[in-house]
Amino acid sequence: MTSLDTVCVQGGWHPGSGEPRQVPIYQNTTWKYDTSEHMGRLFDLEESGYFYTRLQNPTNDAVAAKIAELEGGSAAMLTSSGQAANFFAVFNLASAGDHVVSTSAIYGGTYNLLAHTLKRMGIQCTFVQPDCSSAELEAAFQPNTKCVFGETVANPALAVLDIERFAQAAHAHGVPLIVDNTFPTPVLCRPLEWGADIVTHSTTKYMDGHGASVGGAIVDGGTFDWRAYPERFPGLCEPDESYHGVVYAERFGLEGAFITKATAQLMRDLGSIQSPQNAFLINLGLESLHLRMARHAENGLRVAQALAAHPKVSWVLHPSLVGDPSYELAQKYLPQGSCGVVAFGVAEGREGAEAMMRKLKLAQIATHVADARTCVLHPANATHRQMTDDELRAAGIGPDLVRLSCGIEDAEDIIADLHQALE
Ligand SMILES: *Cc1c(COP(=O)(O)O)cnc(C)c1O
Repeated sequence: MTSLDTVCVQGGWHPGSGEPRQVPIYQNTTWKYDTSEHMGRLFDLEESGYFYTRLQNPTNDAVAAKIAELEGGSAAMLTSSGQAANFFAVFNLASAGDHVVSTSAIYGGTYNLLAHTLKRMGIQCTFVQPDCSSAELEAAFQPNTKCVFGETVANPALAVLDIERFAQAAHAHGVPLIVDNTFPTPVLCRPLEWGADIVTHSTTKYMDGHGASVGGAIVDGGTFDWRAYPERFPGLCEPDESYHGVVYAERFGLEGAFITKATAQLMRDLGSIQSPQNAFLINLGLESLHLRMARHAENGLRVAQALAAHPKVSWVLHPSLVGDPSYELAQKYLPQGSCGVVAFGVAEGREGAEAMMRKLKLAQIATHVADARTCVLHPANATHRQMTDDELRAAGIGPDLVRLSCGIEDAEDIIADLHQALE
């Protein structure tokens, strides 16, 4: 098997003789055909081919193929954002009257999606702590549960998901596990190898890595057998009247059913396509992902160690830091490092955190993480403003929590900046 490093550089796009070495940007909406019969066969999904960029575009397909290969999946699609990826991944399985189980330690935007917006669409969500007891996890399932959701490394709580445990619970109830793998990226963890069935990404973060474009991706492992539960997954196992009665699980097999349905129905009706220009930029990021992730993880750990030793820091969270609540899980799932993100509390609480952030120079305040440049955020004042104090605590985010995203600068410079700001 080709090494992951090589896939980062060369995966997805395999030019023939005389073709562009770099994946070209297909900056067009439409493709022309000689006969309308030919185009009709494409519309009927009888033949593969391009006709409209909202449904498929060669630039996006090449980048999605690289991400699928990196995750070890069977098929993938790009979306306009990570939010769209998580929405589509869940909505491809759950409809009004259905239910999902999610860990509570997830990204604030995903929490709002699952707790509030999907509820307005008739989909209920039960949240469980990532370290809940077996009885609590068991009790979260209902007869109408359609999937389980979690994040490999939660943003910003930094709790590591016990993927095997949640996959086993999901499978015991005949539903797939969806894992948002944004923080580790496939370079540091490949959830499909631990039993997850579908992986999502905000490519906005490390995959792009340069703070240049918002995007998302969904990868299907191609192993969950929808046909074993035809009543639970009618959208995959029964004819789609909006597509001339195609049965996705039959026509496209385990490898292709999920992504084809998400493209044919959700992308068709809801939009949210990645622009080919942005897909090209994400691919530039992917070409160095293996190099950058190693440095992000190293810097994250070194900064976490320095903060843990500082008298003005009350606590530090980083999954690879000895003694961290997620340390054991991180050693199992993320042995080469977890990510560049560190969460910590300043001794004087909310005010101390705000004062320190005003003095930082190298680390800059931004509603962003997982970028080549070190950035810092106070979630209770930004991404998680919508949440009540109880919800914040359930998500593992106190009002004093500072989220520091270590870039790929020299770790000593990041540490020196923190030291002067904490003075
Ligand atoms: C940022 C983020 C998202 C949302 O992604 P966007 O690209 O901003 O829409 C989802 N999940 C995680 C873990 C994230 O960090």
